[in-house]
Order: sequence, then C-alpha cells, then structure tokens
Amino acid sequence: MWLYPWFEQAWLRLTTSFSPFTLHTLFTFAIHEFSYWGVYLPYAVMDRSRFFRRWKLQESTYGYSSVSKQSQNLPREDGKKFWRCVLYVAANHLFLVLPLILVTHPLFEMLGTTHGLPLPSLGEFFSQILFCLFVEDVCFYWGHRALHTPWLYRHVHSIHHQYTAPFGAVAEFAHPLEVIFLGMSTVAGPLIVGPHLLTLWGYLVVRCWQTVDCHSGYDLPWSLNRWFPLYGGARQHDHHHKTYSGNYASMFIYMDWIFGTDSAWRFSLQRARTKSKCLSVEQPDLKESRER
Ligand SMILES: [Zn+2]
Ligand SMILES: [Zn+2]
Repeated sequence: MWLYPWFEQAWLRLTTSFSPFTLHTLFTFAIHEFSYWGVYLPYAVMDRSRFFRRWKLQESTYGYSSVSKQSQNLPREDGKKFWRCVLYVAANHLFLVLPLILVTHPLFEMLGTTHGLPLPSLGEFFSQILFCLFVEDVCFYWGHRALHTPWLYRHVHSIHHQYTAPFGAVAEFAHPLEVIFLGMSTVAGPLIVGPHLLTLWGYLVVRCWQTVDCHSGYDLPWSLNRWFPLYGGARQHDHHHKTYSGNYASMFIYMDWIFGTDSAWRFSLQRARTKSKCLSVEQPDLKESRER
C-alpha cells in the first residue's frame, strides 16, 4: 500500500494540530454532519428531477419542490413539511447528538479509543466496522420493535412515522427520546471493540450513508440491495413506513427473516412479481388483438 505512509503523515499533521478533545468530539460531530447531509444531497437533487421518479418506491410529496397535479396548495404544504423535517433534524443534531458525543467521550477514552500511530490495518479497519454494523443491526431491531409497542409508539415513535413516504432527511427525524434510545444501538459496537478514532469515523460515515439511503425512497439500479441481497435498503424500510409494521432491522434482512417480521413485505414482493409476470404474458395478446 504505497499510499499508507502518505496517509500516516497526513493523519499525524491533523492530530498534532488539534487537541485530543477537539478531535474526538467536535471532529466526530463534523464527520456526522458532513456524512448525513452530504449523503442526502444527491437524493435531494433526485427528488427535484422527474427523471429519477421512475425508481421512486412511493409517490413522495415532501421531498419535491413542485409535483402536485391535484392541488395548487400542495407544493407550499410540501415545502413546509420538507423544511419542518430539515430544521427538526438539524436541532436534534445540535442539541442531542453533539451533547451525546460530549457525554460519551470519557467512556470511549476509558475503553481504549485512541488517535495515535500506527493507523489500523485495512483488515482491522473493515472487520471492526462490519462487526459494529452487525451489533447495531441486532440492537436496532429489538429497540425498534419495542418502539412499536402501543404506549411507546403513541408517545415516541409516531413522530418518525409522520412521513409515510420517507425521503433521505427523514432518517433522523425522531422524538428526542428515540434519538437517545436508538443512538445507543449505534454506539454499542464501538463501545465493545474500542476502535481507533479513524475506524470510528469510518463506521460513522457508513452508518449515516445507510440510514439516509434506507429512507431515500429510491430503489435505484445501482442500489446495494440489488447485488448484496443481505442488505435491506430503501425497498425494505420504505415498506415499513408505508405499513407501520414489520421490517424492524436497520441494515440487514436476516433478523426480520429469523423472527418472521418480514412476512407482509415478502408477500408484497411476491404479489408484485406475479403482477409483472401476468403483464408480460398479457402483452403478446394485446399485440395480437391490436394487429387484428
Ligand atoms: Zn417504525
Ligand atoms: Zn424510518
């Protein structure tokens, strides 16, 4: 890896220019913000283009600047709901995510998260990220299922479900208690492995990408779930927002499969497949009748 020494030098320059506290807290928060909004940006562009609408899972209104055919008032209403989501999420980040990073910093330090050299090897970097993602997925599954019990749903989780056809920014649109509760599933993995700060940032980038992607509402030709079937993606989570139940896991599909909470989703996939098969069988008949 000829880039490794260069990267180590760049890392050394960065870590000697700032205090450990700044690196572990403010930089971690900045990485979270750049990842979350940076991943959302291309989806925001897609939401405003008619071209990408062919891959939209539901006809979402709130992500569009002007879509309505039925009502003149809807675009303004869409704009309001869009900005309400963006401002709410930004407030959650500033008043909850940042304090949570500050509060958990001593814990991470105690458990061995460092920023020194040598940097982790590629094997260590990717295996720890993968481990953290699996831990997060299991914790999120049970936490999310608990949020769907009647009392917690009514008082906490229903806020996140206000958007039945989600768009990228909805990912962290949630009641403050939910942000703290499900945030614990995000930090569970890193608290177990005590990763290097660089690995922690890598994990944070993947986690932000994953949650925004799952809420994007797009099943694009290059979406990860098309060639890595273990990944649920937007197709799976969009169905959860549409039906309010099932598909509780955040990233992978196996937890819902094991505990049978994906039956409605699988049934809808089967129905869609049968429908498209019927259409393709009907197509030659239609052609024939046109020719006659
Ligand atoms: Zn839910
Ligand atoms: Zn959601």
